[in-house]
Amino acid sequence: MAAEVIDGKAVAAQVRGRVAADVISVSDGMGRPPGLATVLVGEDPASAIYVRRKREACEEVGISSFHHEPPGDISQADLLGLVEELNGNDEIDGILVQLPLPDGLDAGEVVNALSPSKDVDGLTPTSAGLLARGDPSGLVPCTPSGVMELLRSAGVDPSGKEAVIVGRSNLVGKPLYSLLLGANATVTTCHSRTADLGEVCRRGEILVAAAGQPKLITADMVCPAATVIDVGTNRTDGGLVGDVDFEPVTEVAGAITPVPGGVGPMTIAMLLYNTVKAARASAAG
Ligand code: NAD
Repeated sequence: MAAEVIDGKAVAAQVRGRVAADVISVSDGMGRPPGLATVLVGEDPASAIYVRRKREACEEVGISSFHHEPPGDISQADLLGLVEELNGNDEIDGILVQLPLPDGLDAGEVVNALSPSKDVDGLTPTSAGLLARGDPSGLVPCTPSGVMELLRSAGVDPSGKEAVIVGRSNLVGKPLYSLLLGANATVTTCHSRTADLGEVCRRGEILVAAAGQPKLITADMVCPAATVIDVGTNRTDGGLVGDVDFEPVTEVAGAITPVPGGVGPMTIAMLLYNTVKAARASAAG
């Protein structure tokens, strides 16, 4: 039987609806709408599209967006100066520096300079530390929290289940490990040096692919009736494809997210959620 296809666009629309209602109550309390600063360094076309979509999504739910577009040859010191200025701006609750940065700029140093209270991408050491300790007060990276929201919407409770993540990045794989562990799954993380990827993946009642390798996960690597979440977004000559070989895997899995229309829309929705969470925390002092 073909797997249920989890509609990320529909789940993201529900999240955005809840965020829009929260924006109204938070704005009433603060006397201003929540604010998100976006920083797009240089002219990378894909980054420009991502940032434009994020700003449009802000507008849709009533979050003010403050856009900065420094040139690609900005110095590290000037970029750090911009981050400092945004850290100190009371109208701004969240700061998003679109990655990757152009060559010559140290993204790690820029991320570390963000105020953790405004770190809506959840990438600072403080955010990562709070998440690893299971402390819910921090800001959680948007894509992994979007994956958790998709599981909830599909009625999949990770508690007691075997969950396998393919990918160990700071952006996706590692924070997702903490989230699934916090939800009481038994979690295994695979990576490029995993000896027998198929054997490990087949254990996963929940299988999350976040490797950035087109169609890496084939049907023989999937446990029957597994919930398969495809984070991968790979631009190929045939268009945008995920890390999962979608059609054959639908014959084995119980539920699956498509690419596009799965995790992607959730990432933006959770950014809006984080901005409102940061605004609420700042209003509470
Ligand atoms: P990354 O390159 O930082 O990390 C990739 C990880 O996959 C690494 O840990 C690596 O060890 C592992 N890996 C690579 N090849 C592998 C293989 N053959 N077998 C097993 N493991 C392998 O990437 P990332 O930033 O974590 O992103 C992963 C993918 O998710 C990319 O396609 C990216 O575009 C996509 N992504 C999508 C969204 C979204 O909103 N949909 C957000 C973030 C990332």
